[in-house]
Formats: sequence, C-alpha cells, structure tokens
Amino acid sequence: MAWRSSGSSNQSLVDNLEKNGLIETKRVKDAMLQVDRAHYAPRNPYDDRPQPIGHKATISAPHMHANACESLLDHLKPGAKVLDIGSGSGYLTAVLANLVGPSGRVVGIDHIQPLVDMANTNMAKSDEGRKMLESGQVKFVTGDGRKGWKEDAPYDAIHVGAAAAEHHKELTDQLKAPGRLFVPVSDGWSQHIYVINKREDGSIDQNMLYGVQYVPLTDAPE
Ligand code: SAH
Repeated sequence: MAWRSSGSSNQSLVDNLEKNGLIETKRVKDAMLQVDRAHYAPRNPYDDRPQPIGHKATISAPHMHANACESLLDHLKPGAKVLDIGSGSGYLTAVLANLVGPSGRVVGIDHIQPLVDMANTNMAKSDEGRKMLESGQVKFVTGDGRKGWKEDAPYDAIHVGAAAAEHHKELTDQLKAPGRLFVPVSDGWSQHIYVINKREDGSIDQNMLYGVQYVPLTDAPE
C-alpha cells in the first residue's frame, strides 16, 4: 500500500495517496498540497515511506499523515486548537495548521531541542509557513509530550506522532468535550492506532484501528 503512492513531486504524491484511497477528502488533499514535503524530509521526500531526520526520529510516511488528518478531521474545523505531540520535522504541524486556518492554532511539541529548531527552520522555508509562525498560528515548544501541553489546553484535537506505552490520562484531560485524540499505543511487541473521543458530556470512548510501527515516546535524551 505504502510504495504504490510514491510520486515524483508533491502533487503526484498527493494525487497517488488520493487515488489509493488514503486521502479521502478534498480538505485533507488541499492541506497536504499546500505543504511541500521536500521542506521537511531530507531525502526522497515524495516516497510514501518514513525517512530518518536525525536524533533517532523519522518523518512519518505520508499515508500515515493523511490518515491522521482524516481521522481527526471532524475536530479540525477552522478556528480549532490542536496539539501535535512528537512534532519532529514539523510537517504534520504545518498540514494541521492549513486545516484549522488562520483563526486556528497548532502547538507542536517535541522533547529534542534540535528537532524543535529544525521544525521552525523547515516551516520558515515557505512564505506561508513563515507567516504562520509570525502570527502565532503555529508554535513549536520543547517538553515532554506525554504530559501534553497545559499552557494552551484544552484542544479540539491532539495528535501523537510516537508510540505511547500506556494511555496517558493527561492527554484526554487536555481535550475539549467534544474532542479527539489520535495516538499509537504499544501493546507488548505490537502497536496500534487508537482514536479516543471525548464526548460532549465528558465521557470517553476508544476505537482501536490498525497496526503500526512508530518510534516510542521516551524520556528526553541526556
Ligand atoms: N510527526 C513527526 C514524527 C517524528 S518521530 C514527523 O512526522 O515528522 C517521533 C517524534 O517524537 C520524534 O521527533 C521524537 O523526538 C518525539 N518524542 C519522543 N518522545 C517524546 C516525548 N516524551 N515528548 C515529546 N516528543 C517526543
């Protein structure tokens, strides 16, 4: 599934993701077309697979970014507030910012300072990205994402880009009601994507989607 969607340009990568059913909506397609993955992936940016970005981190595969956006889409309305945990390259943070628009806000958090710096540099490669940083529509912060980011909570949507060892209550606490969390969770040797909904009355339901392979959420390196 992954390989088939690779392209020779950002446009053809996104077209192929759509053709293969990995992008399902025009909103996600437009948001991904507006971010050139070459600004974020150091090598083979239009391949539909993860790429190393240093510090034992990877930029996730485009089909995962597409699916994360599709899964959270009901909660990514213009003006929504979003937290992107394990923001790494900053690519998905930028796509999420396109989805919530200029009246929305996206906070990207990573615990490795050079990756936070890299995300800022990557976004500033385009005029649109620079404007999003200057206006505060997007900001990158350094911290332990397992605790979320209280300062800007509550969020309409939280995306986690690294595998959690457990269900972190802090994250659902930082969701609005209604709100939605997209998180890979480790379960012994395997990992699965969970979509966790906080309903209007504050109650929680969770759905296990499909198996994945993410780098783990860890303690910050010394
Ligand atoms: N969404 C990113 C994924 C990067 S890989 C992208 O596609 O570019 C996962 C990221 O999670 C890495 O950047 C890693 O530094 C970060 N990470 C791991 N544990 C973390 C923690 N406890 N708090 C915050 N970030 C963490």
